[in-house]
Amino acid sequence: MGAFHGKTILVLGGSRGIGAAIVRRFAADGARVTFTYAGSHDAAQALAAETGSTAVVTDSADRDAVIARVRETGPIDVLVVNSGIAIFGDALDQDPDAIDRLLRINVHTPYHASVEAARQMPEGGRIIVMGSVNGDRMPVPGMASYALSKSALQGLARGLARDFGPRGITINVVQPGPIDTDANPADGPMRELMHSFMAIKRHGRAEEVAGMVAWLAGPEAGFVTGAMHTIDGAFGA
Ligand code: NDP
Repeated sequence: MGAFHGKTILVLGGSRGIGAAIVRRFAADGARVTFTYAGSHDAAQALAAETGSTAVVTDSADRDAVIARVRETGPIDVLVVNSGIAIFGDALDQDPDAIDRLLRINVHTPYHASVEAARQMPEGGRIIVMGSVNGDRMPVPGMASYALSKSALQGLARGLARDFGPRGITINVVQPGPIDTDANPADGPMRELMHSFMAIKRHGRAEEVAGMVAWLAGPEAGFVTGAMHTIDGAFGA
């Protein structure tokens, strides 16, 4: 019997990359997994078929749709808010509507989904949001909106840990460094620069991040809350 047998798990943003690795990990460990996606229909359907999980379209930029999805999922043992985007470029040239959309996906959805999940979450539930080492360290120009959004999650976790702690519900931030996904391919143009900041000079694997998420979701982590968990090859050290 898997470590998460019988648990209901919702992953927001699970069709590709780190989210897909999280879906695979929890499904392999026996959970009933539902994951959301926005654009990657084929990848989502393939992952659902592979893992026996349920894929549903929910745009993380749409607050009311996210809240409805969380509510309709019913009591959730583990909520993972993984969906996130980055916008690169000169802050003076960026479209303010695009920046606001980033903030809806990266900040508003983690907040509203966490609060909505907590309404029905059983005692001992787990909330895990996907931050970034860029919430601690932003060593290059052109990514201020992303850094802003990921550091905001630190306040989210610190605050909601106080609200939900009395019910034994934990909330934690996982802060990856460079992870090999479509968003940050290991053979991309930033490879050498990123590796120059790191002690372990490679991109991480999505499965390594999923392992940290699984530990935070499990019974050994019941005393861990309101905290940031960095997995970055010492990018931020
Ligand atoms: P990818 O771009 O590879 O995958 C993003 C996932 O999020 C996809 O499943 C995508 O679904 C989903 N998603 C994006 N926008 C939305 C939306 N509006 N509504 C619903 N789902 C959405 O990203 P990664 O796997 O690399 O990143 C995942 C998380 O990890 C993000 O929060 C990111 O900021 C964070 N992170 C990543 C790092 C890295 O180096 N890769 C480093 C640090 C943090 P779909 O395609 O179906 O829309």
